[in-house]
Amino acid sequence: MKIPYKIYLEESEMPMHWYNVRADMKNKPVPLLHPQTKQPMTLDELSQVFCCELARQELDDTTAYIPIPQEIRDFYKMYRPSPLVRAYCLEERLGTPAHIYYKFEGNNTSGSHKLNSAIAQAYYAKMQGLKGVTTETGAGQWGTALSMACSYLGLECKVFMVKVSYEQKPFRREVMRTYGASITPSPSNTTEVGRKILEQFPETGGSLGCAISEAVETASNLDGYRYVLGSVLNQVLLHQSIIGLEAKAAMDKYHIKPDIIIGCAGGGSNLGGLISPFAGQKLRGEADMRLIAVEPESCPSLTRGTFAYDYCDTGMICPLSKMYTLGSTYMPASIHAGGLRYHGMSSVVSQLYADGLMEAVSVPQTKVFEAAELFARVEGILPAPESSHAIRVAIDEALKCKETGEEKNIVFGLTGTGYFDLYAYKRFNDGEMSDYVPTDEEIAASVAKLPQI
Ligand SMILES: *Cc1c(COP(=O)(O)O)cnc(C)c1O
Repeated sequence: MKIPYKIYLEESEMPMHWYNVRADMKNKPVPLLHPQTKQPMTLDELSQVFCCELARQELDDTTAYIPIPQEIRDFYKMYRPSPLVRAYCLEERLGTPAHIYYKFEGNNTSGSHKLNSAIAQAYYAKMQGLKGVTTETGAGQWGTALSMACSYLGLECKVFMVKVSYEQKPFRREVMRTYGASITPSPSNTTEVGRKILEQFPETGGSLGCAISEAVETASNLDGYRYVLGSVLNQVLLHQSIIGLEAKAAMDKYHIKPDIIIGCAGGGSNLGGLISPFAGQKLRGEADMRLIAVEPESCPSLTRGTFAYDYCDTGMICPLSKMYTLGSTYMPASIHAGGLRYHGMSSVVSQLYADGLMEAVSVPQTKVFEAAELFARVEGILPAPESSHAIRVAIDEALKCKETGEEKNIVFGLTGTGYFDLYAYKRFNDGEMSDYVPTDEEIAASVAKLPQI
């Protein structure tokens, strides 16, 4: 059977449920801990931070399939099912016998997979009768996705945007404003946490961890507001499982069995969502394949971090999560893949990695942009720098197949487009991009400050 360039699912074939991989994990991710008491967060406590339904999803380690509400499915239909593309042109250019596929999540205005969870989180906030939500955004994709979801549902949206991105990506900001969101560069003097960080580091360009603290503080001071987070959490991985479920349905249609599945890893949500159904097969002993997380060499949480309880934010006001972490005080170098500059990792992804069900590699950004350039030239899509980490490793694996003559099926997540990353492309094109590898001492210094549990 000839496999088409693009495998599209029918609207009616879009999944009716999200898949919760925790239900099939023998070693469940351990619970979130309260930042003060260091005791497992109860549903009541979590419901003061997140919407009730999302708090329930966060704690649910047993329900494998959770129905996607009709309203969310209707919204999904504006841009889903997303295509699974056979990268014939890339294969030809590489001269590889491998078959390369990518699941493309950049076909919506936010330009990334983040909308899959943004609409779900905004929906549950609306159902609970809330007035608005606060959040952080690094590169800007999450803030944009949430602004879109909130304007669709008539919710207010306050976004704390990491200051370097705020300055480097003014157009991203305008998209969010068009959707009615209010944007504050972080650190800001509108919160106690922000003022404290500004006092200590007046020149800082900010970080995701810091913007999270500001957003949480703001939500807790406003009536009818909750904080929402675009990655890392169990609930976000759950919503993103739609990526993997659709990818699997598309592959099943053509009897394609993946040998290697690759995703870039910032907080782990697209990767976790893409691999969930496949990790489920692995956990149930139904199929086997390699699952690979790709992270930037400058922010190597899985490959060089420590598996321990840590704060999800710099201000240490969020719950503690057990994860591979570089320490919440780690200040990642300002590489261009802003969405991957996070000190920690999803606890589900971390547990799968600790249990040997997954691999991880780190790559330098110049090599990432070389892969991005090649991909853009042969496949036509200008990829996001984050996504290009997955492209890099997919190409490397395909080149290995060229040496061995193996016809492997390689699948990767193309999480988004790079139209707002042209400053980064400019640096690359001008030959001004450099790589940064943190020293062992640097990592050890922030890991030494991990909370004692
Ligand atoms: C946010 C983002 C990522 C990284 O976030 P994860 O939660 O690790 O998926 C990757 N790619 C794009 C395009 C993003 O916007």
